[in-house]
Amino acid sequence: MSGQYDYIKRNLEIIRERIEKAAAKSGRKAEDIMLVAVSKTVEPEKIIKAIDEGITELGENRVQELVQKYDIINRDCNWHLIGHLQTNKVKYIIDKVKLIHSVDRYSLAAEINTRAQKIGKKVDILVQVNISGEQSKFGAAAQDALELIRKISELENLRVRGLMTIAPYTTNPEAVRYVFSGLRKLSIDIEKENINNINMEYLSMGMSNDFEVAIEEGANIVRIGTALFGERKYI
Ligand SMILES: *Cc1c(COP(=O)(O)O)cnc(C)c1O
Repeated sequence: MSGQYDYIKRNLEIIRERIEKAAAKSGRKAEDIMLVAVSKTVEPEKIIKAIDEGITELGENRVQELVQKYDIINRDCNWHLIGHLQTNKVKYIIDKVKLIHSVDRYSLAAEINTRAQKIGKKVDILVQVNISGEQSKFGAAAQDALELIRKISELENLRVRGLMTIAPYTTNPEAVRYVFSGLRKLSIDIEKENINNINMEYLSMGMSNDFEVAIEEGANIVRIGTALFGERKYI
């Protein structure tokens, strides 16, 4: 039987093959790479189709949208907050997210910690770093990341699990390879510091048009929207 959302199944097959090939280039397997399906602006029916095809991780960049979909999509799946997070909105998502990818300042980390404490939970986070230095991107500056992470390490209800970055938009992924290798090098430097409560097991980097290069450079979380669900109608 074929349905109107079968293209999602086909897209997912293609993405999985591409992940497998890129992983092989860096001596890894497809299973070592976590695929976060970025469902921002995508209608619930399409998201459910993706879940039915095996997607377990969903990424949203806006708090309100995540909260709405969390209630609507009544399936066994994990939610990731991947976009800029305002401190006053932490309370809405604290009990809903598996991983917050976009912690880029101490005040935000402190608020997540306070809210996590209140509900007796340890929350996994990634520290977002602006490797490219592009003005329009959020993220801590690379030279400030270590100091930020040292401060965050004192927050008992947070667990730093790694780093995240967003590369500048490009149609030529080779042009942003340095961003991915830069994040990887930074994570190695931070790992060497052996900071209590901090580990660098995850590198969240790579989107629809650059995920293969990101995987070659060590990504083990990729965040893919367009290549799975098609072009977004709005941002
Ligand atoms: C939208 C978004 C993505 C996915 O982008 P695509 O190019 O559609 O794959 C990944 N990460 C973040 C932070 C995003 O906001």
